Amino acid sequence: MSSRVYNFGAGPAMLATEVMEKAQAEFLDYNGMGASVIEISHRSREFEAIIDRCDELIRELTSLPDNYKILYVHGGARMQFSAIPMNLLNRKPVKKSLYFETGNFAKMAQKEAARYGEAKIVASSADTGFDRIPEFDPSVVEQDAAYAHITSNNTLYGTRWNSFPETGDVPLVADATSEILSRVIDYSKFGVIFAGFQKNLGPSGMALVLIREDLLGHAMPETPIMLDYKTYADNHSLANTTNTFAIYMLKLMLEWKLERGGVAALEAINNQKSQILYDVLDSSGFYKGVAHPDHRSTMNVTFNLANNELLGKFLEQALEQGLYALKGHRAVGGIRASIYNAMPIEGIRSLADFMREFERTNG
Ligand SMILES: *Cc1c(COP(=O)(O)O)cnc(C)c1O
Repeated sequence: MSSRVYNFGAGPAMLATEVMEKAQAEFLDYNGMGASVIEISHRSREFEAIIDRCDELIRELTSLPDNYKILYVHGGARMQFSAIPMNLLNRKPVKKSLYFETGNFAKMAQKEAARYGEAKIVASSADTGFDRIPEFDPSVVEQDAAYAHITSNNTLYGTRWNSFPETGDVPLVADATSEILSRVIDYSKFGVIFAGFQKNLGPSGMALVLIREDLLGHAMPETPIMLDYKTYADNHSLANTTNTFAIYMLKLMLEWKLERGGVAALEAINNQKSQILYDVLDSSGFYKGVAHPDHRSTMNVTFNLANNELLGKFLEQALEQGLYALKGHRAVGGIRASIYNAMPIEGIRSLADFMREFERTNG
């Protein structure tokens, strides 16, 4: 495995090495069947055991309340930007949703919702370059809205909601794509939490959707069958042929998380991992963090070089050290280290050492 880099890419992101090795070892012959897991029916006993096990593991890792359904939905996170309004807006006489604008994905989600009804931006941190979660008066959460949407962790900017807005009877919807299962969350506070697989869960192209049962069954009549969450809930996410390989990989990743001690243990490690990098930023005039210190993410650490002309050299030399995909998103620039659950602390230490050395020789 000596050729494996420390992969800081935002997504598709690195998965746990142990998981990749297990998948490789049983790829040609799953469970003694003489066939690969990607060659068997999504309705086979063996695949049903995989998806059942995912349900069990998710319930265990999240302490999900009993009145929530677990759905495995096609189309990644952005497909949910459409599915959320289509499934939720029709519950109310006026089709109105509320959006907290905290970054690019929040903007995209709001724009998509605006195609189906009023999608009100109730707070925004655009004026400070999305470096924080904005302050807002609780009264902005109008109680006649069908839902309120947040991006719980802002992947491009490296900010996150440390505590979540109180929305009263308005269901709170969270896009948790870049942080799902990285910290303990009280799921009962949310109507829906969704996350694309490709950052903390598995391969790209699917989304995990955790939804309170009473929100099912209200989709707009024109909602495509395969975007109606009730279709997934009624058919154990197997109404049509699902991405069996992604769900199999999800199972391995969930088992890995449980072996590591579950979400609380991962959260402690994630705090430690991110702090190593924030300590480098805070003790340096050479690097400048993007996120306001009160709103820092533990999953995406973003920073600039005081002298941006050194960016290319930084990335090139980092890569020579096996530190891959550190370039920030084009909308933000600079550097972003995405450090999801699967990033080992050794990778973080290696990056921190590199940063100090690069500062010493170029500062
Ligand atoms: C990566 C990401 C997305 C986009 O996910 P896709 O599966 O590519 O649609 C959406 N929201 C957040 C918060 C993300 O980090």
